[in-house]
Amino acid sequence: MKIVFLGTSGSMPTPSRGSSAVAVRRSREIILFDCGEGTQQRMVAARLGFRRPTRVFISHLHGDHILGLPGLLETMTLLRRERSLYVYGPRGLIEFIKAFSSVLGGPGFPLEVHEIVEGGTVFSCPGYRVEAARADHEGECWSYALVEGPRPGKFHPDRARALGVPEGPLWKRLQQGEDVELNNARSVRSSEVVDPPKQGRKIAYSGDTRPTEAVVRLAEDADILIHEATFDDSLGERAAEDGHSTASQAAEIAAAAKVGLLLLTHISSRYPDPGVLLEQAKLVFPNTKVAEDLMEIEIPL
Ligand SMILES: [Zn+2]
Ligand SMILES: [Zn+2]
Repeated sequence: MKIVFLGTSGSMPTPSRGSSAVAVRRSREIILFDCGEGTQQRMVAARLGFRRPTRVFISHLHGDHILGLPGLLETMTLLRRERSLYVYGPRGLIEFIKAFSSVLGGPGFPLEVHEIVEGGTVFSCPGYRVEAARADHEGECWSYALVEGPRPGKFHPDRARALGVPEGPLWKRLQQGEDVELNNARSVRSSEVVDPPKQGRKIAYSGDTRPTEAVVRLAEDADILIHEATFDDSLGERAAEDGHSTASQAAEIAAAAKVGLLLLTHISSRYPDPGVLLEQAKLVFPNTKVAEDLMEIEIPL
């Protein structure tokens, strides 16, 4: 699983930072968090492709997070995408998509739009689920977490053999966590031959938000928290007014949620050098990086 930052700017893009969008590549699939203007261009640069199974999770209906949707749909249509595209986000998203589609023409592939009305699991499939929690911004805004299910522990064939389990269907059942009974009426527990399941990976994405307990809970024990840090600490009042976070506030959320790595994004155009944000955040949460456009982060199993 790999994170690719497509856009890391605050509301105003800069020569080196485009509007908000983060892609997660998980096996063949792309999970996109926000879709700011120019997302499709940076997807080309990142060679992500437009025909893959894709789900887009929009945090809120501010232009710097959604204006990439018309372009993305257009590009996918031009490339004759056939597969359905799934888009999730706050109330009003359907109206927004209808409005631009009525001018541009609808997409040339099936589009399913889901408006989120309450937090919790908003999508799940066999390998992972996406949870939403209400962020603290202007209007309805959602933070998201991609949470993988636990992975089965390692199976030890030598132990199975030693316990007299013949290779074949019984091995499979043991691997799936089932206890089995042998012909001699002796039973073998799965835990005797399989290691305990391993926790899956978890990525949390704040969207625009003031620091909030809801994101701490959502991001608990995540491998990676992608949190907005629009301002440095000297502009704390401005951050509170505009519904944003400072670098230290993002770091406090990361520390409280006990995440592995904090990535700061949504960087205001006033910081051509984001060094000050990094310094301030690191004092609170040392394992912090500032995201850059097209930066890629692998998350190993
Ligand atoms: Zn924004
Ligand atoms: Zn916003």
